[in-house]
Amino acid sequence: MHELSIAINIIEIAEEEVHKANAKEVNEIEIEIGVLSGVIVEALEFALETAIKNTVLEQSIVRITKISAKARCTNCGMEFEIDDYFSPCPKCKHLFSDIIDGKQLIIKKMIIS
Ligand SMILES: [Zn+2]
Repeated sequence: MHELSIAINIIEIAEEEVHKANAKEVNEIEIEIGVLSGVIVEALEFALETAIKNTVLEQSIVRITKISAKARCTNCGMEFEIDDYFSPCPKCKHLFSDIIDGKQLIIKKMIIS
């Protein structure tokens, strides 16, 4: 399962940060997931719930924010929100655009103590 390995990855990063800061645990973690990242938020939440047992994240509040995707038209330069890779430009109907946001999966904030 894809989401489980992502959950484990997040935990590893958290463990490292806590260790570096000489802290004990994570109080709160904020994760941003782009809608084009291929990650199913509900599946990740479920995976995290199971995977954080006995880790620095066990008592943590986990906040996951979905980031909508944005593209820039390669023809006219218009920037617009998209739901998938095949949305035409709303201005000139051009079919090709560069994805400029929405593919990320990042830990935005972590509060540790
Ligand atoms: Zn365009």
